[in-house]
Amino acid sequence: MGATIGASLLELRGAKRRYAAGAQEIYALRGIDLDIREGEMVALVGASGSGKSTLMNILGCLDRLSEGSYRVTGRDTSTLVPDQLAELRRAHFGFVFQRYNLLPQLSARANVEIPAIYVGMEAEQRHRRARVLLERLGLEERLDHRPNQLSGGQQQRVSIARALMNGGQVILADEPTGALDSATGAEVMKLLLDLNRLGHTLILATHDPVVAAHAQRIITVADGRIVSDVMKGSAEGVASRLETPGAETPRETAVIPGIAATADQTDERPRSATPSREGIWPRFLDAGHMAVVALLGHRLRTALTLLGVVIGIVSVVTMVALGEAARRVIAADLEGVTTNTLEIYPGKDWGDPDATRIQTLTSADVEALRRQDYVKDASPQLAQSALLRHRASSGSASITGVGVNYFEMTGLPIAQGAGFNRDDISRQAQVVVIDANVRQRFFGSANPIGQTLYVGKLPCVIVGVTGRNYRQESRGGSKLNVWVPHTTAGARLIGRSYLDSIVVALRDGEPPAVAEEKMTPFLTSRHRVKDFVVFNLAERIRSGVAFFNSMSLLLAAIGITSLTVGGIGVMNIMLVSVSERAREIGVRIAVGARQGDIQRQFLIEAVVVCLVGAAVGVALSYLACWGVGYFLPSNWELRLSLSAILSAVVCATATGVIFGYFPARSAARLDPVEALARD
Ligand code: ADP
Ligand code: MG
Repeated sequence: MGATIGASLLELRGAKRRYAAGAQEIYALRGIDLDIREGEMVALVGASGSGKSTLMNILGCLDRLSEGSYRVTGRDTSTLVPDQLAELRRAHFGFVFQRYNLLPQLSARANVEIPAIYVGMEAEQRHRRARVLLERLGLEERLDHRPNQLSGGQQQRVSIARALMNGGQVILADEPTGALDSATGAEVMKLLLDLNRLGHTLILATHDPVVAAHAQRIITVADGRIVSDVMKGSAEGVASRLETPGAETPRETAVIPGIAATADQTDERPRSATPSREGIWPRFLDAGHMAVVALLGHRLRTALTLLGVVIGIVSVVTMVALGEAARRVIAADLEGVTTNTLEIYPGKDWGDPDATRIQTLTSADVEALRRQDYVKDASPQLAQSALLRHRASSGSASITGVGVNYFEMTGLPIAQGAGFNRDDISRQAQVVVIDANVRQRFFGSANPIGQTLYVGKLPCVIVGVTGRNYRQESRGGSKLNVWVPHTTAGARLIGRSYLDSIVVALRDGEPPAVAEEKMTPFLTSRHRVKDFVVFNLAERIRSGVAFFNSMSLLLAAIGITSLTVGGIGVMNIMLVSVSERAREIGVRIAVGARQGDIQRQFLIEAVVVCLVGAAVGVALSYLACWGVGYFLPSNWELRLSLSAILSAVVCATATGVIFGYFPARSAARLDPVEALARD
């Protein structure tokens, strides 16, 4: 394609741009009429402050007119919303800035790729196209270099490649050689001229008449007005090249071979920026990548900001873990023990120092209780410790005298053999039920049923072996326990008739609390004084649950408070980040990012910060669980489950979204012209 000059591409009528400066108004543009046609090369010259940059920003749809009209390919821009202007920028314009405006954290290639991200070009195609462009601009050795590892001329070539990434139909170069020495500046100018010859419309703003002299059309701006518009040698310039295409074209393409081919291959050039669905994903990845880059750039700051989030996450995770541990313990309780029992102990109240002297709990109480309509069964308990002996081995054990059905009532399982029957009780039979520890200790793997075990001096025949259950475990896993009929215990072992306690099984459906209320006056009237206490396991479990509930409530409060504090920290750091990176935001908007893209990028950044906090928090929660577990009963097993980790992720994401929203929105609403002007 030659430099054929076509129909009017850009059209300004009566264009004015006003700035409010305090109370008064400054006109940067005071009424400009201008037509620029496809393929033209235009130089805007004028003194500093004459309005060139303002005009360039208007032409590039980065800025809006205060008065007058601007049409791009016949389309009136005054009615367009910001995202439509972004679409126009993506479709038609490529910016080259005096100070290059490359993103310092990204490689040359990644910088060049940015505009393609916003048109939803696939990653692979994007990488390839960026590489081809950079190679053709002589930067094949510099693809992975950061801007600060490149010379000024190289950086400007990277920014030209970026301008070409989406096609670069119109290249707007504002003082492109202003920061370069004259030799490098001349090289960059040559590059831009070559691009113009290959069909790109080139608009160049410069205060340097030597640079402007390269252009065919020179527009002089002064004080916001066009004072001259000269078409230099329009006849020879264009015509001569058209006359000798064979001579011109090979030389031109030799300078930057294939730029035209790259720019014009329709399959490679993104269509005028239809926001495709597939386009969302690369933009997400880009935003995630930028988030990580930004975080790594300020490690200490990020770490300090994260403290609140971390503490919040630890609280939340520990709370969930505690909840699960409590549920497991309660489930184990309910599995091992029927909660439908009450136990009666001597003593006016818990911890009564005279409890051991009270001798009023008797077998007669057991019989009387049995006859109550809310009682299913009752069993006495007499306890003492005694030496067990079998052949040569012996060991100290706790002996409990019990009644019929004791094992069923308390939920203590009989693993082998049987419990006691009525006959055993009435005969004061010398029979014994042993637990798994006794069996292990005296018999190993041999069958203990029918063997004789000396309980103290009394030889007893083993009739049953209990299994393990939670209550037994919680009382000390390796203690030796045996049970004998309470009559045997009272008459032959311990030598007394009063009981240590009574276990009462309630009728099905009888609430323990109600039964306790009925039982207390009944026994009190029998003893004429309330010299006993009632142990209500169901109540005990409930109070355990209540303890757990208040503990989780506390943790939830700490969690919410810390997450809020952490969230405010994140909001703060994000606001700092937005103002620090105003130029980055400006560049992104200039290359065609939608407001939503910018907003999403910063939101994702906030969420990534919080997710890093969540990761640290989950790690610390391992420690926290260990620490809290230390203060909990031994059967409480705190561990981090998937749901605890999941709730950390959910809380962190929510914190990021809530507290990142405002900074992200303010980033998206930045004025790109103002943002690009910042240092
Ligand atoms: P040039 O690029 O030709 O040096 P500019 O277009 O940058 O000129 O500026 C033109 C005029 O507009 C100057 O007088 C400048 O002070 C003024 N101007 C530019 N931007 C702003 C702004 N954001 N607020 C107030 N005045 C501005
Ligand atoms: Mg300027």
